Amino acid sequence: MLLTSQPTGRIHSFQLPKKILFGVKSSENVGLEAKALGGKTAFLVTDKNLEKTGVPAKIEGSLVSQGFEVEIFDEVEPEPVLEVAENVASTARRKKYDTIIGVGGGSVLDMAKVAAMASKNPGPMRNYVGVDLVKNPGVPSILLPTTSGTGSEVTNVAVLTIAEDELKTSIISPHLFCNVAIVDPSLTYSLPPRLTASTGMDALSHALEALISVNANSITDSLAFEAIKLIFVNLPKAYKSSDPESREGMSLGSLIAGMSFGNAGVCLGHAAAYTFAVSHKVSHGTSCGLVLPYVFRFCASAIPWKLPRIAEAVGIETESLGIEETGLAISEAILGLMDKLQMPKRLRDLNIPQRDLPKLAEKLLTFSRLIKRTPKPLSQPDAVNLFETMW
Ligand code: NAD
Repeated sequence: MLLTSQPTGRIHSFQLPKKILFGVKSSENVGLEAKALGGKTAFLVTDKNLEKTGVPAKIEGSLVSQGFEVEIFDEVEPEPVLEVAENVASTARRKKYDTIIGVGGGSVLDMAKVAAMASKNPGPMRNYVGVDLVKNPGVPSILLPTTSGTGSEVTNVAVLTIAEDELKTSIISPHLFCNVAIVDPSLTYSLPPRLTASTGMDALSHALEALISVNANSITDSLAFEAIKLIFVNLPKAYKSSDPESREGMSLGSLIAGMSFGNAGVCLGHAAAYTFAVSHKVSHGTSCGLVLPYVFRFCASAIPWKLPRIAEAVGIETESLGIEETGLAISEAILGLMDKLQMPKRLRDLNIPQRDLPKLAEKLLTFSRLIKRTPKPLSQPDAVNLFETMW
């Protein structure tokens, strides 16, 4: 038997939404899927920028054609702050909607999860920040991603920004899984190159960090290897020419990376990104992408048996190399991908001053939930070194 993870004797659970539809034009089925969930009134969560593409109007049309009464909430901002979550929650509670639909990037999908959960759970959203604090299942929901990045459509997480603390935090609960995830690659055709690149690097960080995580197992690993391969082949093409084939590859890569990290969890990379993303106003994808080659190099020696398959997935030959050299070669392949995408590769490219590095290192060590999932101990000098390398 070929196992990608070392046998641990542990039992792994693997959870997903009840149904996933994947394919070009699958979003045209949203009305039928919503009807099958038994609803009549839909609360459609999206954002104003996306409305310009006409995508939310098409989703509304499909729902109306199945007899739904639809109210649109389009006040989601990228990287939503807690106040946006409170707003979406109170608006969703005002009428008793029986179906929640989210169409947009991860920011919108996370706020649709909040709307669905808030409809059946009282009080401020702040009370639910943390793990397993949601008591009741939400109302049925359908999520349709328009970026190929977060995988939010298949995870049990809603990420919130706490602006005053310069922090990202999350509501994590099995009650946040949607009922149906509809992944239609054609919804991403309008995504501009810069967002294609940054959200695609987010998906890559999910796959690689899921492989690094101490909670990785053979199920999550097999999805992650395939996601890495899909992203390395398709992301530069989607960035350059946005052709349907590469968009489909990215939608699939992002979806299965989401299925992987949604179960294995992310680790050191996301923790490192969270130290500067909010304070320096760097998008989620850009921050997770920037730290990825350095974090991977740091962690590579802790997962030596996975390195040959990762090397194969990123398209490099490493047979004659040792563990350290293979880790370095994979890290360089990630930097090469970032070159093709014209992504920032160093903290200094984001105008983060070198004098801030000790502060960032100190903050990194506070993300204990994510650090604990990293298979290599991280001392204070390690953390400082890591940021020096990234700078
Ligand atoms: P986003 O949702 O913040 O959107 C960024 C911008 O892209 C917005 O202006 C939006 O209007 C635009 N956009 C989206 N789709 C478009 C399209 N098809 N055409 C044109 N413009 C489009 O970006 P994101 O990276 O998808 O989401 C980031 C958020 O998701 C962050 O808050 C992050 O923390 C969170 N996140 C959540 C999870 C999870 O599992 N819940 C996982 C990773 C990240």
